[in-house]
Amino acid sequence: MVDSWFVARYGMNLYRGCLHNCAYCDGRAEGYYVEGEFGKDIEVKINAPELLKKELDPTRKRNPMKKGFIMIGGGVGDSYNALDKKYELSRNVLKVVYQYDFPVHVLTKSTLVKRDVDILKEINKKSRAFVSFSFSGVDDKACKIMEPGVPSATERLETISFFKKEGFSVGTFLMPVIPFITDLPDQLENSIRRFKEAGVDFIIFGRMTLKEGRQQDHFYNVLKEHYPNLLHEYNMIYKGNKWGGASYEYYNSVNSLFLDLAKKYEIPIRIPARLYNQFIDQNDLVAVILGQLDYILKQKGQKSPYGYGAYSISQLKEPIAEYRNKLKTLKGVGPVTEKIILEILETGSSKYYEKLIT
Ligand code: SF4
Repeated sequence: MVDSWFVARYGMNLYRGCLHNCAYCDGRAEGYYVEGEFGKDIEVKINAPELLKKELDPTRKRNPMKKGFIMIGGGVGDSYNALDKKYELSRNVLKVVYQYDFPVHVLTKSTLVKRDVDILKEINKKSRAFVSFSFSGVDDKACKIMEPGVPSATERLETISFFKKEGFSVGTFLMPVIPFITDLPDQLENSIRRFKEAGVDFIIFGRMTLKEGRQQDHFYNVLKEHYPNLLHEYNMIYKGNKWGGASYEYYNSVNSLFLDLAKKYEIPIRIPARLYNQFIDQNDLVAVILGQLDYILKQKGQKSPYGYGAYSISQLKEPIAEYRNKLKTLKGVGPVTEKIILEILETGSSKYYEKLIT
């Protein structure tokens, strides 16, 4: 199923565990079952390129894999962590992606991705390659404390500009912002201004969760050492949510601040359809746009009629064009959604959507 955050149909994590050792990493949470000492012990998925080749090779499959973006990123790891200098799994996976002509979206915190600019350029010529970087903020001092194994924010910003000049669509995942450290109004504005100067095509924003147990204990130890005066504030906003979420009031205020700043700097808050509408099929395109609309409206505190329609279209086996005259027979598709779908089928996007994401 296509994902509206990354516009990816498939995802690969090439390592389990992460040398970057970010203080807030939720890969530490017990629910992810990452074994060993987080930040030091890493599982290397040494046969990932070979497995990908088997999956993508259409001659090996009765039903070849549908074309769509492959996300090379991390849930509990960064594919461009320092071990990749030795194993080159990311590079080898990109070669397979190129061979079978799939689009790719790379998300990393590491400047090591520059090593693979040659193969990424080839992919970008044939289909499409997005290169995204994640940040918690752009203050190098705070990053050094919170992301001890990662190149500085300044180096990451320079790398974004480098990829932009090389002709890539580039974005940032500003997630998570760190409460009272990187989410203060002047900090947040500084981040967004510098992303804009670096040439980003979009910014995806996310807030920090702190799940009780290994993740929260580690983060609080770092906080006690470097920002002891913030402990009280943290105790006020992170209390008793089993998913590690902060209070609604906090999320709401930081979210509104982000939305205002993104508007001020005219940066899309989702990956805009114009960057990929020629590289994914119509079903996925419609599902992604409706999914993005649903997310944005909810972030703005409004009701959304688009979520269920996005899901049912993502599950459709037949091409959506076959439903052109009977869209309302699809679950979750009413007259408003129908109008938007028809516009997407006609033009590859929707004016209402374009207005809302920027
Ligand atoms: S780069 Fe990502 S996966 Fe690695 S430690 Fe940081 S947050 Fe976790």
